[in-house]
Amino acid sequence: MRAMSTIADRIQLVRQTITDVCRCCGRDPDHIQMVLVTKTAPTEAIKEVVRLGYIDLGENRVQHLKQVSDEIDVFLNEPAEKAELPKKVRWHMIGHLQRNKVKQTLQISNYIHSVDTLRLAEEINSAAAKLDRHPNVFLQVNCSEEPQKYGAPVGAAVHLAEQIASMPNLRLTGLMTMAPLTLNKDVVRACFARCRELFEEIRTENISGAKFKHLSMGMSQDYEIAIEEGATILRIGSAIFS
Ligand SMILES: *Cc1c(COP(=O)(O)O)cnc(C)c1O
Repeated sequence: MRAMSTIADRIQLVRQTITDVCRCCGRDPDHIQMVLVTKTAPTEAIKEVVRLGYIDLGENRVQHLKQVSDEIDVFLNEPAEKAELPKKVRWHMIGHLQRNKVKQTLQISNYIHSVDTLRLAEEINSAAAKLDRHPNVFLQVNCSEEPQKYGAPVGAAVHLAEQIASMPNLRLTGLMTMAPLTLNKDVVRACFARCRELFEEIRTENISGAKFKHLSMGMSQDYEIAIEEGATILRIGSAIFS
């Protein structure tokens, strides 16, 4: 039982930090959602956060997404547990997605944070049409402009957002970015600020209407800066699960 309370304590600590940072920068903590990234978590730990009522869960590899989502489905339907548990969870695909894995992903996830090319968006749109689905997609932007990183180039983002927004089966919900792995807070902040500027530009041009409202940025190491720069969805893994 001890490990379980540790997870609850860690979530509480992150929530308290969110509240504190929001107070400092004049934001409403209710406008910040957490996706709990389960990619390294043992199944028991995932079950524990679901028991605590956290239903937004993130995975970065399709194969693992399939495996853990199957396990959690079984868990949610165990007669002994069912009455106490949420009816379902929402899986967020947050990692690089290959086009040949799109169909499988859509069968599990309605939130894809890692759309970064026109070809991938087109593949998701046509697979979603066949499944009669309207997934929420985020345009991932390489705001740090590191050459080895996934994400659309900053200079291509607005045009790509227009193209994605015109696809009938996609709901362009927001932007996603990942800061560089560095202890230099100014570098991290500049990356998030750039994403926020792009976000404002796309919103001002009304490219995707009112459903375009999320900035998915901030992980365990840098979510406080992300909140200060306008994040609405934090993707938190190791601060809770390791
Ligand atoms: C793993 C991962 C996270 C969470 O990172 P932590 O440092 O464990 O909080 C967030 N976003 C993406 C895309 C990831 O792959």
